Amino acid sequence: MAVRVRFAPSPTGALHIGGVRTALYNYLFARQQGGTFILRVEDTDQNRFVPGAEDYIIESLRWTGLLPDEGVGFGGDAGPYRQSDRKEIYQKYAHELVARGHAYYAFDTPEALENRRQGEDNFTYNHLTRNSLSNSLTLPAGEVESRLAMAEPFVIRLLVQPGYDIHIRDLIRGDVTFQSGELDDKVLLKADGMPTYHLANIVDDHLMEITHVIRGEEWLPSTAHHVLLYRGFGWEDTMPAFAHLPLILKPVGNGKLSKRDGAKFGMPVFPLGWKGETAEESFTGFREAGFLPEAVINFLALLGWHPGGDREIFNIEDLTASFSIDHIGKSGARFDYEKAKWFNQKYIQAADDAVLATHIRPLAEAKGYLVSDEYLARTAGLMKERVTFLPDFVEQGYYLFEPVRDYDTETLQKKWSAALAQVFDDLIAVVAGTEPFEGEALEEAVKSFIQEKGLKPGDVLPLLRIGLAGTTKGPAVFDMAAVLGKEKTVQRLALLKKQGDQVLQNALSA
Ligand code: GLU
Repeated sequence: MAVRVRFAPSPTGALHIGGVRTALYNYLFARQQGGTFILRVEDTDQNRFVPGAEDYIIESLRWTGLLPDEGVGFGGDAGPYRQSDRKEIYQKYAHELVARGHAYYAFDTPEALENRRQGEDNFTYNHLTRNSLSNSLTLPAGEVESRLAMAEPFVIRLLVQPGYDIHIRDLIRGDVTFQSGELDDKVLLKADGMPTYHLANIVDDHLMEITHVIRGEEWLPSTAHHVLLYRGFGWEDTMPAFAHLPLILKPVGNGKLSKRDGAKFGMPVFPLGWKGETAEESFTGFREAGFLPEAVINFLALLGWHPGGDREIFNIEDLTASFSIDHIGKSGARFDYEKAKWFNQKYIQAADDAVLATHIRPLAEAKGYLVSDEYLARTAGLMKERVTFLPDFVEQGYYLFEPVRDYDTETLQKKWSAALAQVFDDLIAVVAGTEPFEGEALEEAVKSFIQEKGLKPGDVLPLLRIGLAGTTKGPAVFDMAAVLGKEKTVQRLALLKKQGDQVLQNALSA
């Protein structure tokens, strides 16, 4: 049977990074099995609906490259893929389940239920309480009919009988057992005619011919109800296989990674930035922090999936080839932000300079740096071994786009000497006369000049770096000169000479 999997987020706010991991595992499994990856938007809970959240989900999938084959915004034959567009379908199935004897109408008002809750500890609507409540199991048939005919508000509840075990064979957790007597009679269809998550999820998984449900561990307890729904509808033969993913844990301490941890630990926990109504509800994303999407994918893939061996770098093709549900762990995976940064460094270092340039372009433009693609690519090549985040290219490496702002005066004072001052203008002339104006030729010319004058490279080269970048920590000095070009290099070295002269004068007058 052709594999069909779905990512089924609810648009209740920014998509948590754990949701992106769920999407990724579904995507990888589909790609590997030659199957279909579907995006279904589960928006039946009107109270929790947040405008913009659906677009955010789609943009997150586009940014990470996890493009669905079918779904909201992507087309397909099993739609509509937005649950609020499928209301009538769920209503039909809810009533059908009543007719099949596996669900019932309940007329209890919210007030009546609230009274029961007040009066009883841990009140639940289940096999112990339903007989004393107002539903189609307790009311005479005629009354039920007349209440329905009078359009009295009702909900439809799943009828869960006590006394037997429900087994779920989970591809990650193995056999998981629930006792039916412990389950409540879940609402399937609400008084406003909207389905609950449980009903809509099962009806859609069935109609969309989903073969594998890969989702977060928090949905494991609901699965018992889901199995009963499949049975009730007579769909057990085509029930999907389940795989419940381990939790993503906080970087330190106990518990699940939460959206508050982002601010607490100074790291993103969302793929993209999100502008909420308050500052507290607004979050930065991996994209805005300056991550390459490929690095985020690699990082997330290893958050719960253990391929075995020491290898850590897997691009999306490698992941598709090696991924297997068998190697997903049961225990929670710690969200290690330092590791995410490490992946980003590795992916930046390995990236093509021209590709990096396309990522740096908007950052450079925001700072008013108007340069050619070629120049950007060359600066990328120069800096990529030294940065962690994309904005570092224009922030740490600002001197490749504008004059040096800060000089390492301490090193300048320590290293500048009268001997150097004497020959520095000649050194500038040598630099200016070097053809071609390229790293290797410059290195050769300057090094032989240094030797000729009886100076040591260690005394001169750090100063040249300070001249071009303001710091000794910049890129290799001759490559930097080549990128800056003759004119700027010569100007900056002349400025350095002036500063050196000042250092000597200060020393004399001190
Ligand atoms: N709408 C649920 C969520 O927001 C989907 C859970 C599932 O995949 O069944 O996570």
